[in-house]
Amino acid sequence: MRQPFSRALHFFAIAGCALLFPACAPKAPAHTEIVLGTVCTVNAFSDGTRALYAELFSRLHDIDKSVNPYCADSDISAVNAQAGRAPVPVGKDTFFIAQQALSFAERTDGAFNPALGAIISLWGINTDHARVPSDAEIAAALSHCSWRDITLNEADCSIFLPTKGMELDFGGIAKGFAADELVKILRAHSVKRAIINLGGNVYLYGKKSTKSAWQVGIKDPLQPEGENALVLLLPETSVVTSGTYERFFEENGRRYHHLFNPETGRPAGSGVLSVSVVCTSSLYADALSTALFVMGKEKGTAFLHTIPQAHAVFITEDKTVTVSPELPYYMISSEYTAAF
Ligand code: AMP
Ligand code: MG
Repeated sequence: MRQPFSRALHFFAIAGCALLFPACAPKAPAHTEIVLGTVCTVNAFSDGTRALYAELFSRLHDIDKSVNPYCADSDISAVNAQAGRAPVPVGKDTFFIAQQALSFAERTDGAFNPALGAIISLWGINTDHARVPSDAEIAAALSHCSWRDITLNEADCSIFLPTKGMELDFGGIAKGFAADELVKILRAHSVKRAIINLGGNVYLYGKKSTKSAWQVGIKDPLQPEGENALVLLLPETSVVTSGTYERFFEENGRRYHHLFNPETGRPAGSGVLSVSVVCTSSLYADALSTALFVMGKEKGTAFLHTIPQAHAVFITEDKTVTVSPELPYYMISSEYTAAF
C-alpha cells in the first residue's frame, strides 16, 4: 500500500532535522500522537496545556481526514475514486492544498507533481510490496500523471481528475500546510515559543527563552544512526528536509527511494542525498524540498533564487554541503566539504 506521508515512525532525529537543546529543558510536557501517517510532536514549553494540545491535534486530525488517501472517506480518496467520472466537492483545506500544489507544479515545471499517485502506488516504497516495476508498467503509470489535466473549480470547491487511473498525492506538501495551520493556533493563543515536529517537518515558533537562535541539526544522510552533518542557527522559521534515507528499499545492492522524477517515473537520481529548505512558510519549505531534490543542486539553486524568502542546504553525493549564504551554520561532520 502506498505511503502518502511517512508512515514509518520517524522521530525527528532520523527524519532530517535534530533539535539541540543545550541548556533549555522543556517546562511543560510535549504532546505526541501519530497523525498524517507519522509521529507528530508539539512542545509549547511553559505555555503547553492540555486544552492547547487538544486543539492543535484536533486540527491535525481534521487535515488528516481530508487528505489521507488511506482514509476511505477522505476528500482525496473520493477524488481519486471518481477519476474519469465526475468532479468531487472537497473541503477548504483540500482545495487550498490542491491550489498550492498546482501552483508549485507550474513554477517548478512539473518537478513537483501532485498527480504522481499512479507512480507512487506502482513502486510501493515503504510498503511490504515495494518492487522495481518494468519499463512498460512505468510508462503506463506515467500516462496517468499529467498534473495539467487536474481541474479545480473554485465556484463549487471541486476537484476533477479527467482520466481513470489518475491519483492525487499530497505527501510532499500536506505536512507543511499542517505545520502552518498549527502556527496560526499558537499565535491565536499568544504562545511565546514552541517546536512543532510533524515527522521531521519542523517549525521553530517564537524565540528560545534565552533569546538566542534555535539550533537545528541537519542529519548526515550517510549515517543511518542519525548523526548530524551540520547545525543551522535560526530565528522563527520552518525547516523541512527531503532525503534519500527517509523511505526506501534495496534490491540487488541498489537503493530505491521515495522522491520521484516525474519525467522518468523513477526515483530521482539528481546527485542529491538530501535537501533542507528553510522558510517561514512550512508549506513552501515542504513543496520546495521535494522539488529541489528532483531538480538537483544546480537547477534547484537557480530556481531558489526566484523565491527570495526560502533558503536551502544541499548535501550531495560528492560529499559536499552547500548552504545558502543567508543561513548561519557550523559543521559537525568532517566527512563533508562546505561549498557556497
Ligand atoms: P517529502 O519527503 O516531503 O519530500 O515528500 C515525499 C513524498 O512526496 C513522497 O512520499 C510522495 O508521496 C510524494 N512525492 C514523491 N515525489 C514527488 C514529486 N516529484 N512531486 C510531488 N510529490 C512527490
Ligand atoms: Mg516535501
